[in-house]
Amino acid sequence: MLLPEVGYARPSTVDEAVHVLASHDGARPLAGGQTILNVMKSRAAAPDVLVDLQDLDELRGIELAADGTLVLGAMATYSEVIASAEARARPILGEVCAQIADVQVRNRGTVGGNICSNDPTNHLPPLLVALGTTMTIASSAGERTVPAEEFFVGVYATAAGPGELLTKISIPAGKGDGFAAVTIGKDGTCIVSAAASLDGDAPRVVVGCVHGVPVLVRPDGADEEAVRRAVRGANLEPPSDVHASADYRRHLAEVVAARAVQRARTRRS
Ligand SMILES: Cc1cc2nc3c(=O)[nH]c(=O)nc-3n(C[C@H](O)[C@H](O)[C@H](O)COP(=O)(O)OP(=O)(O)OC[C@H]3O[C@@H](n4cnc5c(N)ncnc54)[C@H](O)[C@@H]3O)c2cc1C
Repeated sequence: MLLPEVGYARPSTVDEAVHVLASHDGARPLAGGQTILNVMKSRAAAPDVLVDLQDLDELRGIELAADGTLVLGAMATYSEVIASAEARARPILGEVCAQIADVQVRNRGTVGGNICSNDPTNHLPPLLVALGTTMTIASSAGERTVPAEEFFVGVYATAAGPGELLTKISIPAGKGDGFAAVTIGKDGTCIVSAAASLDGDAPRVVVGCVHGVPVLVRPDGADEEAVRRAVRGANLEPPSDVHASADYRRHLAEVVAARAVQRARTRRS
């Protein structure tokens, strides 16, 4: 299906980009275009202006700060993360990016676009919550930071509102992380996913695809029964669809959460 007619801007600085975003009610950022162009073709969204972020060098780059924080520009592509020596400081990130769709999507799709679309089946939202990530958001009023647990506010909705741009994703140093998912189809769409990060003896476990936003649970131990108990205690109310019933998703949530923690423990030892 053809794209509807749409205005187009290609700013060269973040200041210029947030100015264009703030001056049109219907303006939306365009990152890799892997989601938004399909959404526009299906007429599920109709922005007036697409603000192309390709020329914003400020949103590129993957850096490792002296304190071990990994800082990704919002326009870092999955392929750039996979190839980055700096990103290996938190190896789970490249491993999960390598599981996303196919090489074409990975070459165009960006970390910022993945989390700003907040499709509940996307791989990165639960992972970034588990890793204790902080998002930096720019607007014409300046810059603010938001912890990942507050960034995802609903299906396809995030704390980056109209006129705002996600610029940076900051991931602190960690002690061992894991990810597990049950997927379907050739693109590997998640039915249920889980990410875990070890924080002392109590892991941070985050379940995806079971709610509009990633669900963070804090088991009181890292053994399988403690993880399953914590996920059960979250009283998840996942959707039922053609791929899995709500009951089956609840069951899978316990299974993949326990696997993610087990993988994180293996990595730490
Ligand atoms: C065939 C196919 C299979 C896929 N399978 C998977 C999968 O298995 N797992 C998975 O996680 N993803 C999957 N995806 C989605 C893919 O990862 C997309 O790349 C991603 O969801 C969006 O990234 P993008 O850079 O293309 O963003 P875009 O499509 O350009 O933008 C997405 C949304 O985010 C907004 N946005 C983008 N950047 C910013 C920013 N810096 N600040 C504020 N808002 C911004 C846009 O306005 C838009 O609303 C698949 C896509 C395709 C086409």
